[in-house]
Amino acid sequence: MAFIKINKQNFFHNLSQFTNRTGSKDNIAIVLKDNAYGHGLELMAQLSQEFGLTQAVVRTYKEAKLIKPYFKHILILGDKAVKDDSLSFALNSMEDITLAQKGSNVELKVDTGMHRNGVAMEEIEEAIKLIGKRELNLMGVMSHNRSADELSSELFWQQKNFQKAVDVTILYNNNNFKNLRFHSFNSATSLRLPCNKESIIRLGIGAYGYSHLPSIYETIKLKPVLSLWAKRVATRELKKGQRVGYGGEFIAPKDMTISTYDLGYGDGWMRSNSLKRFITSDGLPILGRVSMDYIILESSKDEVCIFDDALKAGEQLETISYEVTTQLDRDIKRVVT
Ligand SMILES: *Cc1c(COP(=O)(O)O)cnc(C)c1O
Repeated sequence: MAFIKINKQNFFHNLSQFTNRTGSKDNIAIVLKDNAYGHGLELMAQLSQEFGLTQAVVRTYKEAKLIKPYFKHILILGDKAVKDDSLSFALNSMEDITLAQKGSNVELKVDTGMHRNGVAMEEIEEAIKLIGKRELNLMGVMSHNRSADELSSELFWQQKNFQKAVDVTILYNNNNFKNLRFHSFNSATSLRLPCNKESIIRLGIGAYGYSHLPSIYETIKLKPVLSLWAKRVATRELKKGQRVGYGGEFIAPKDMTISTYDLGYGDGWMRSNSLKRFITSDGLPILGRVSMDYIILESSKDEVCIFDDALKAGEQLETISYEVTTQLDRDIKRVVT
């Protein structure tokens, strides 16, 4: 089966860059949702701990349970709140407050302009009251930026809204819940704005080595952590004019030596790339259509690197680095180099 290499040095490099910005490893909550953006949940949790991080963010309670031993605290973005001292749960709506288990740690998400999740600014007072009445433990207030990686001033507008949400929370909370934390920084925000006053930054894509900011913003150099590799299954000689794969879409322009490699759309590699002939990072075009478990390349090497930079691969596939890595199958073996 295809396999993934995780470059530990590059991961640590990226984390160091962000640690320089926050001033402390304790202020970085590494986002490990969706199998750590396809990099491997437990593996990346373990490496994060080795680096010295103490906080993580995931989507589900199930994910959190798998990586609990590695962190002091884990924030869960999208699951029903239950009582567990080392966890907190984002409340995405008023309804979430009513569903939360008594005694659970919660962080109220406020909608500051993305209009995806969170209570409205006008609902903050009511939400805090209800959280108190339902005997939940409010730990923080959070929000998410919709355009931090775009060349616009929207980020500043949304940060202003968040500051208002913070002020309103402090007013209505009236020192009832102690030590509230406030956080709204994702990777792109952390690259653009000073981070040294943030209680935590929620660091996702940047830790994995990608920045989607227009190059004008580029501040720190990040290095891709993941590379995808495939192994040779069979090699054959193809005569000029013979066709390859389903539909015989590729026609050999000359006699050539080709090999089948063990990666396909069943592994989370996109088939749509066959429309445009994806070029691997070694410069080899994928010949013909992608099958469920196989691709064909003009090569006889035992192992080939399909991509070592998901941002560039994503450009070829007309998507973002997030999707390229996140969709990679959980069963693909991950090895640390
Ligand atoms: C995924 C996510 C992040 C991380 O975003 P990146 O762009 O990968 O840094 C932060 N906060 C929330 C709420 C998220 O859903």
